[in-house]
Amino acid sequence: MDLQLRGKVALVTAASKGLGKATAWQFAHEGAKVVISARSELVEKAAAEIASETGAEVLAVRADVTQPSDIERVINTTVERFGGLDILVTNAGGPPSGTFDETDLATWETAINLNLLSAVSLVKYALPHLRQSTAPAILTITSTSTKQPVKNLVLSNSIRLGVIGLTKTLSQELGKDQIRVNSTLPGWTYTGRVEELINARMAKTGQTKDAEVANINAAVPLGRMGRPEEFANVAVFLCSPAASFVNGVMLQVDGGLNAGTF
Ligand code: NAD
Repeated sequence: MDLQLRGKVALVTAASKGLGKATAWQFAHEGAKVVISARSELVEKAAAEIASETGAEVLAVRADVTQPSDIERVINTTVERFGGLDILVTNAGGPPSGTFDETDLATWETAINLNLLSAVSLVKYALPHLRQSTAPAILTITSTSTKQPVKNLVLSNSIRLGVIGLTKTLSQELGKDQIRVNSTLPGWTYTGRVEELINARMAKTGQTKDAEVANINAAVPLGRMGRPEEFANVAVFLCSPAASFVNGVMLQVDGGLNAGTF
């Protein structure tokens, strides 16, 4: 199948590693022009790596997704360099783990900025350009925790539902502009974020890393965690013209972890 991404311009935020980087790599492999952003020098390193492995044009922009002025700059730089924007993937780092009792109000506010308001700002600044595109798409990266809460992750379980509400609403409001808006809901996929979560679990339970990994694997019907490229394949397909009639979908990529019917 031809995903028809050749020459399209895709922006993936928080993409110096993990799911964002894997998604950017796959866009590049499919012939898109790719912009990636993150806060540190790792973003330039990631862009150089993706460009050399795929032969695509990849632009790195340092930016913090919690800063609207940084987001405005990322969008403007994208349009200046590539002449427009077709695809926006909103991604950010995960919020800290913890239970409700362990999480203070300041931490809630920081997490709301990181995981909800960043997506709002990105869409705000990107929309005028997406409206000029012939194949526009927005994808939010959320979590399978929006379908079924994950233990010890009150912030993720709560705040990402706001992103789902945003995604679903945009899919209704922007249909008239032919802008498709979907979300991918990753489950356990082996990245730096999962390393952090495993370390947090080890600190609480006193179990070894192997035991914690085995617990996670046992909860997944496929019996293992996902690989970032398995997530990226789905994310890139949803954003591509090959998925031109898919709009308003919240798609789990979790190996069957969430056992709910809907
Ligand atoms: P990761 O920690 O491997 O990568 C996160 C990326 O976000 C890095 O590039 C980091 O530099 C960047 N980042 C963090 N804060 C930022 C900020 N303020 N501004 C710009 N960039 C920032 O995480 P991941 O596993 O790739 O996860 C991506 C998202 O998906 C996270 O929100 C995570 O919580 C969520 N998620 C991941 C999994 C999983 O199993 N990996 C499951 C469910 C949800």
